[in-house]
Amino acid sequence: MIVFLSKDASISWVHKYHNAYLSNTLNSSQNKILRKYTSIDSFCEHIQEVTPREKRSIQTAIQSIQQKCWTWKCLVARPTWTVIGVDNQVDGSMPHTIHSAIIMPHWLRAHLCDSTHSAAYTDAIETLIHEQIHCLQKMYPPHFDKLYTLWGYKQLHHYPHYEHTIRDLKQQFPQRTNPDTPTEWVLRNKWYQAVVFKDAPTSLTDVSYVLIDLQGYAADVSDRKQHAMVNQDATSWFTDLFGTTKHCYHPDETSAVLLANLIYQDFEKCASASSAKRKQPPGKTSPAEDILIKWVHSCDRL
Ligand SMILES: [Zn+2]
Repeated sequence: MIVFLSKDASISWVHKYHNAYLSNTLNSSQNKILRKYTSIDSFCEHIQEVTPREKRSIQTAIQSIQQKCWTWKCLVARPTWTVIGVDNQVDGSMPHTIHSAIIMPHWLRAHLCDSTHSAAYTDAIETLIHEQIHCLQKMYPPHFDKLYTLWGYKQLHHYPHYEHTIRDLKQQFPQRTNPDTPTEWVLRNKWYQAVVFKDAPTSLTDVSYVLIDLQGYAADVSDRKQHAMVNQDATSWFTDLFGTTKHCYHPDETSAVLLANLIYQDFEKCASASSAKRKQPPGKTSPAEDILIKWVHSCDRL
């Protein structure tokens, strides 16, 4: 089932599910400066009604994902896909989710209306799958927790001794907030992944994707604690496990990125040669993807 929330229903949805996230974001000067809203009400001013034409195109896109990617049916066939329209101003124009609803900026809806099925259309299909995975994460946390455990993650609350370190680190290194990654995790018992703003950021993508050694951070007495912080891309044990995409910066993002990519490959296989070009040849899967594929087979009843 596909539900398009009206403007009024979207405003109620935002008030119900987005309040805590917005307060947290607006309490951080870096996060606040780069967003185009200053309160929940001004956030709601960016909500747009999805037009009948957009609704038809989005419906066609979702049905076509469900038909072409039937082997992933536990992820794409159900449950409801819920859509809220916004303008291109909110959160750097990045599509995201609020609870189990996909927040679709105007550009994404326009790309899905592209009947020539250009590269922009196929990218939009992959984005749509990515966002629906985020919705599933919020609806079925225990299923995804199982996957993240297999990858070596454990939720931060299992490590009360890191509490002080995390508080200090958030103060020293402001991090970009993300409504798609509500839970905090520790990898291999000591690594904390963070999206840290660069000095004087001018956009929401002015960030570094880092792995922080929480034990080393606590022991480091220097000012910038740089010894405890490494770039994710430059860390071989990490890239050997997850591959080189910088977007694997949180297990919710990693699973959305890797699953959307795998599911999308099936979508593309079904598309005619003239309408879509394979973005990358089907290569060797990473160990994280192998674990992911086994996990998908084990959660048929999602
Ligand atoms: Zn995402």
